[in-house]
Amino acid sequence: MFPRSVLITGANRGIGLEMVRQMLASSAAPACLIATHRSGPGSGSVVSLEELKSRHSNLHLVQLDVVSDRSIQSAAEVVTGLLGDTGLNLLINNSGYAQRTTCLGQVTSDSLLAHFHVNAVGPIMVLKALKPLLEKAAVAASSKSEYGIQRAAVVHIASTLGSLTNACVEMRMDEYRASKAALNMLGRQVGFELLQAGIVSLLLHPGWVKTDMGTEDAPLTPSASVASMFERMAELNKEKSGTLIDYTGRVLPW
Ligand code: NDP
Repeated sequence: MFPRSVLITGANRGIGLEMVRQMLASSAAPACLIATHRSGPGSGSVVSLEELKSRHSNLHLVQLDVVSDRSIQSAAEVVTGLLGDTGLNLLINNSGYAQRTTCLGQVTSDSLLAHFHVNAVGPIMVLKALKPLLEKAAVAASSKSEYGIQRAAVVHIASTLGSLTNACVEMRMDEYRASKAALNMLGRQVGFELLQAGIVSLLLHPGWVKTDMGTEDAPLTPSASVASMFERMAELNKEKSGTLIDYTGRVLPW
């Protein structure tokens, strides 16, 4: 079910960590699963990944802070060393950041820029750095192989809160919403270019999920959300490339 190689950003907790757990538990686990984490090895927030790593030789941990160009560059070099000529089949841009705002008085330029950096700029810079590896995987696939995650794909974890149509006064989170709207546009725009290189893309909303970001009030467990998202990823093809959908497959308004 899973392709040979997968890289997940922000994989040390929440949805990213659950993705790693489910992939490793699968009988069709990736031969090379790269889980990236922002904090250094040995730090408290990487404990769960390091425990998994001690039991799974196909799991590789790479430090990556998506707001640091230097960190992206050095992570790309490590990943290139791990994957070599086979390239990368699936990039999951999962890392994210959200603070709650209730009124214009709370918004600051620093806060706006921080959200845009983690949620929109970072994912695109990571994609830019790893694009050569995705291209390698697309070329390595036989000419008859179908477009999809088995060949070469990028999935951006999006949010329904990034939808302009769904803007509402009840749920402000203005900086987060705007940064996820920016991710939608960037993901869709670069998606056209990726498709020409045989790489499909998807903007995928995980639902409202019980994580540090989603809080305990969320109705969905990470386990249920991730299992459904993996089904959607498996269905990704040329026709669905560049769309914005939720974990059930419902097409969301931009
Ligand atoms: P969490 O807050 O639980 O986890 C966020 C992850 O992103 C952590 O691993 C965190 O690392 C990482 N991260 C934050 N900043 C950076 C950075 N600069 N560089 C690298 N990694 C970073 O969130 P979720 O698991 O809930 O969210 C995962 C994705 O799902 C996000 O993109 C989010 O926007 C999206 N989403 C979540 C929803 C929900 O209900 N939970 C709903 C809709 C979308 P660290 O531990 O170091 O901080």
